[in-house]
Amino acid sequence: MARFAIGGFQHETNTFAPVKASFRDFEIADGWPGLTRGEAMLTAFAGINLPVAGFIDAARKQGHELLPTLWCSASPSAEVRTDAFEKIVGELLQRIGALGKIDGIYLDLHGAMVTEDHQDGEGELLERLRKQIGAELPIVVSLDLHANITERMIKHASTLVVCRTYPHVDLAEAGEASAVVLDCLTRQGPLFKAIRRTEFLVPLISQCTLIEPASGIYRAVAEAEQGDVVSASFAFGFPPADIAECGPAIVTYGTSQRAADEAADRLLALVNAKEAAFAGKIWKPDEAVSYARAKGNSATKPIVLADTQDNPGAGGTSDTVGLLRALIDGRAEGVVFANLCDPKSAEAAHRAGVGAQVSLAIGGWAGGAGNTPYEGTFTVEALGDGNFPATGPFYRGNRMQLGPMAVLKKDGVRVVLCSRKQQCADQAMLRHVGIEPSAQKILALKSSVHFRADFQPIAEEILIVAAPGTNPVDNRDLPYKRIRKGIRLMPLAEPFKG
Ligand SMILES: [Zn+2]
Repeated sequence: MARFAIGGFQHETNTFAPVKASFRDFEIADGWPGLTRGEAMLTAFAGINLPVAGFIDAARKQGHELLPTLWCSASPSAEVRTDAFEKIVGELLQRIGALGKIDGIYLDLHGAMVTEDHQDGEGELLERLRKQIGAELPIVVSLDLHANITERMIKHASTLVVCRTYPHVDLAEAGEASAVVLDCLTRQGPLFKAIRRTEFLVPLISQCTLIEPASGIYRAVAEAEQGDVVSASFAFGFPPADIAECGPAIVTYGTSQRAADEAADRLLALVNAKEAAFAGKIWKPDEAVSYARAKGNSATKPIVLADTQDNPGAGGTSDTVGLLRALIDGRAEGVVFANLCDPKSAEAAHRAGVGAQVSLAIGGWAGGAGNTPYEGTFTVEALGDGNFPATGPFYRGNRMQLGPMAVLKKDGVRVVLCSRKQQCADQAMLRHVGIEPSAQKILALKSSVHFRADFQPIAEEILIVAAPGTNPVDNRDLPYKRIRKGIRLMPLAEPFKG
């Protein structure tokens, strides 16, 4: 039996987004649990699709003693504020330091954290941790598929384990895999490492593992783990993070350097061969609305429009109404537009009550180019407290706490308002306010890919729509400054010149 410290600190940073992450954002629960300390960690995540939950289950089964420290996450946004980073990392290191003799550390990190002071939040955290505990103690870190893996992370972590699905339905499994690796490291000693990077970024919408080419790449990653290769991972990276080391990376760990290198080279060659296959059709809002209206006459299931550029799961503000405007102006019928994050309008709807007519300017509160509210008169059709269990595969086991919610109806369009932003990736978000998703003609969802886990099975067709938002589908629209020169911002694009 070994003694393992466990902790977690998750943030996915969109450096182009307008609103930074404060300590409060890590404290409160949203789509995921709030800041959790000490022993409470051993029960708070039970049954939730989170890496830390999978690690706890697996390491317990192995018979190890678990020493919980702290875990927190905040919704994706602009940089983590310095005081939040210092406070959380400070407490995490202090708690680990107070544990006495331990045999290893497991951390549940995202891998794309940028702070006001550090381009590589996780690398900074791991370097400080390494300094504190010395060179020998194993540190295993699970990462999100959107991790921007850096040299510092590779150097200071013994092993990095990346989840393999997008929608991320295997987060808990990445934690379980981390437990297997940490157990192996404590018994057999350190592994040899290899890292390889692609020379191009892959836009978020082309990273979905329910479709090719990503699904085949992840099959190959799983198959690479055999013989002398103990762990193999591929992270697509998170494009809207303007840091030097942004982009896809392969990391492999073997019992020999040669085994790690060969596996990494093989996987890199495979990803490189798929570069052209990562390009997909993007619709303009009015074009998508016309198509969905025409197609809706013969469709038996809803047509899903993914409002990807305002995906709050990628740092969007979840308040843009470009696609909503196109739906109302285009006289679309049987439409649900979800989730528009607008606490003030949700509050106004609650004050007015169900059945009331309200004149409101909804959305558009965060500002930015082309982001103005939609002004109109709506009927308040339903209200909710935003507190309900998730039912879909991505948020499974988790309790949503989205604050006051409301449904506003105008013509053939229902708008679902919430007060805490969370991407619309779970049918329960609609059922909570009395809407049956499968009975709609058009579902316009603020999400890039995660919605597919729960909505693809009920969708006639899925269109990716480029309406206003801080998360451009074409990375060339982002004003990069710090990303390394020479990288292609989109598959097959010209190298970035700076
Ligand atoms: Zn992710």
